[in-house]
Amino acid sequence: MTREPDMTGAPAVGAAGEPAPARDRPLRLSVFGATGSIGASTLDLVARAPEAFEVDVVAGGSNAEALARAALRVGARHAVIADPGGLAALREALAGTSVTVAAGEEAIVEAAARPADMMVAAIVGAAGLRPTLEAARRGTTIALANKECLVCAGELFLDAARRGGARILPVDSEHSAIFQVFERQNFDQIETLTLTASGGPFRTLSLDEMRDVTPERALRHPNWSMGARISIDSATMMNKGFEIIEARHLFALPLDRIDVLVHPQSIVHGMVHYRDGSVLAQLGPPDMRAPIAHCLAWPRRMETPCERLDLAALATLTFEAPDPVRFPALRLAREALELGTAATAALNAADEVLVAAFLAGRIGFLDIAARAEQTLERLDAAGALAAPGDVADVLETELARARGRPLSGGGGKRRVMS
Ligand code: NDP
Ligand code: MG
Repeated sequence: MTREPDMTGAPAVGAAGEPAPARDRPLRLSVFGATGSIGASTLDLVARAPEAFEVDVVAGGSNAEALARAALRVGARHAVIADPGGLAALREALAGTSVTVAAGEEAIVEAAARPADMMVAAIVGAAGLRPTLEAARRGTTIALANKECLVCAGELFLDAARRGGARILPVDSEHSAIFQVFERQNFDQIETLTLTASGGPFRTLSLDEMRDVTPERALRHPNWSMGARISIDSATMMNKGFEIIEARHLFALPLDRIDVLVHPQSIVHGMVHYRDGSVLAQLGPPDMRAPIAHCLAWPRRMETPCERLDLAALATLTFEAPDPVRFPALRLAREALELGTAATAALNAADEVLVAAFLAGRIGFLDIAARAEQTLERLDAAGALAAPGDVADVLETELARARGRPLSGGGGKRRVMS
């Protein structure tokens, strides 16, 4: 029996009072995760068009020097660091400037409550949940990169955004692509969605060869430059599994109408197949500044320094079906989604721990998906995959995992991973 959540409502993406109101002033922007890969790409775009943006907050995790540099680069008003131990260094690095500073998890959430036209939600991991939810509740448009908001708290997050009147714009390149060719007015005419996948660095390796790959090799993505966690998730294709979950929430189509297609060149990022046989696709260079710019300028467009596509030079674009044997993470994500949000959250938590263990050399590459599957099976058998009641529930699970509490079931509460 499937317990897939009922999400047959309107697509969440881009919703809330379309079209966006015309503005005769710069976009007031907050960048959460400003020192990361997505954050740096965002700030690069902002620095190239300073007249179009007014950066209120930059927020980061623990790297005070990088956060101070980010604040100064775009003239942010307020810099917030999650790690309280970084406050002194942040204060010192910004001494004599007008940038105000704060530290701690609560300060991050408070910064998310400040009035802004748009938040770029690019904190990695569960730490991104509370601030992004806070902004959603206040009706701030969210340029969403953080995966946990949808993977760990799907309905809760969308519900908060709906109630707050917050618009959600996808940063993830595949979802951005689909959004760009998604005809809301023809929602009932959409047959399927296709998320493309590069196939990662091990696309052509045999199962035996995959067994012994090193973290260094797994971190070397052929097309995209990204943070460590998402790079490993791309190598296992767990990232694509999470993207299926994200697409399910954002576009409100049933799971059997969301497909994955391996496309090693990463030029076609996503497609929408309509009932008349037409397929609309979005193409672009593998550069995250393109989808980020789509959010920053939406519903208009803006100039980017992204390399222009030269299709004649590329000559060949290839596509192939993903191999379910070498990349079981795709099946796993679908199974988790059928079990519900508690299962997708558990899959994410298990994967986060297992990726860290792989990077530390404690487990092999193939163990990541295999052990994640065992974790899901164990939790399901223990009846521990009850839907989270609220965000506190989701965070409790994450905290339990972070503290390394043993996995156990029962009681409707989820506790994840040893
Ligand atoms: P990075 O690891 O490069 O950056 C993560 C950012 O989060 C850094 O600014 C980091 O600060 C900050 N951070 C970490 N922990 C905390 C915390 N506890 N509180 C506040 N901030 C924190 O990640 P990416 O930029 O690659 O990815 C960001 C998100 O976007 C992820 O969820 C990823 O899955 C998603 N994404 C990324 C894509 C990409 O191409 N990179 C594509 C699609 C989605 P510090 O530097 O101080 O540690
Ligand atoms: Mg992606």
